[in-house]
Amino acid sequence: MADYRKLWSKLGVDLEKHDQLCAVLPKLYEGTYLTQEDRPAGMNYFNSVLAEIHGSRIEELDEHKKNGGKVVGTFCVFVPDEVILAVKAIGVGLCAGSQFWVEDGEKVLPRNICPLIKAFMGAKVGGTCPYFQSCDMIIGETTCDGKKKAWEVLKNYVPVHVMELPQMKRDKDYDQWIDEIKDFIGKMEELTGNKVTVDSLRKSIKITNLKRRALKRLYDLRKHKPSPISGLDVLLVSQIAFFDDPERFTEKLNELCDELDERVKNEIKDEGKKRIMITGTPMALPNWKLHSIIESLNAQIVVEETCTGTRYFENEVDENGDTLEDLIGNIADRYMKINCACFTPNTGRIDDIIKYAGEYNVDGVIDANLSFCHTYAVEHRAVEKALKEQNIPVMQIETDYSTEDSGQIKTRVEAFLEMI
Ligand code: SF4
Ligand code: SF4
Repeated sequence: MADYRKLWSKLGVDLEKHDQLCAVLPKLYEGTYLTQEDRPAGMNYFNSVLAEIHGSRIEELDEHKKNGGKVVGTFCVFVPDEVILAVKAIGVGLCAGSQFWVEDGEKVLPRNICPLIKAFMGAKVGGTCPYFQSCDMIIGETTCDGKKKAWEVLKNYVPVHVMELPQMKRDKDYDQWIDEIKDFIGKMEELTGNKVTVDSLRKSIKITNLKRRALKRLYDLRKHKPSPISGLDVLLVSQIAFFDDPERFTEKLNELCDELDERVKNEIKDEGKKRIMITGTPMALPNWKLHSIIESLNAQIVVEETCTGTRYFENEVDENGDTLEDLIGNIADRYMKINCACFTPNTGRIDDIIKYAGEYNVDGVIDANLSFCHTYAVEHRAVEKALKEQNIPVMQIETDYSTEDSGQIKTRVEAFLEMI
């Protein structure tokens, strides 16, 4: 890797602590990813993005900032990427998937909240994430109580704009969400000095739709038996989707899908692995814990009903409309179709899970929740009931980012796979 220390130092990264992170990540990656057999050649691009994760992309952000551009950080799939693109800013979905950051997070937050929240806070407090350090503004949302209150603390370190996400899906909630998107547009215009126009918004809707379409294409390929790509590799692609340049990402992903098309045509040997769906909370980079445990056994993950899975790309924004009002309405409609457990009721998520179980021909479902995420934990019983009614085996795993429970999880998953 080129020497990026000067750049990191300029961004205010704590170099010594960051060195510790850099010492852990490549080993974790090699052990998890490079030991897989018969990986598609198209994964080379995504490997290189990861190898350069704190390097070349950070350099691109720096270049953008030198030219007067802004960088905006997000943590939830409800924040519309289209608006960020339309003001010529770069959006980065910030990773919060490592135990490394939890300790610093616990210095300013209670211990008994979700590890994702502690990790993002720790990354900022400890100054160990060059993406976070590059952000001119963070866009928060009122999705869960932990995040809602964490923004108040985060504001001490970086400017934060919070979008109020409705928690129901009535007509008046749609209207409120449209208003929030308008406020967000105003905030982004103020930050960047660029106006959102019908043309710029339509263009950014198209770019984002193409990215979603490519991800959907990748997921559709996994419907083949056996899937031509591991769940681990798809998880990595989905995680990279959150911070890579969207047009380059789409191009590279479509190249990977072309290769997978060929694999499917040439018929891959079916080793009879159990086809598993993961449902639940997001798995931010570099959280590969459950995927690597599950796929080390006789199983292949073929779909993730998560925010680092289907919830990120399902449903496109309608590109038709003559006015800003029309396009903003289209954006609001698409985002309100996301079935996050922060909504009440959230029966749409159960319908999605049952639909995917059929479409992806799954043998079993693993409902995976981050510890202390109450909304998803409460929904587990409804998920379990609906799946049992369809005779689809299901198990729940509640875990955090530490590896302490990995052995125990492996034993439980092994027993589950034997049972199905
Ligand atoms: S689970 Fe809900 S709150 Fe979390 S990223 Fe997804 S949509 Fe946002
Ligand atoms: S996983 Fe749950 S608790 Fe954690 S940030 Fe997302 S919604 Fe909140």
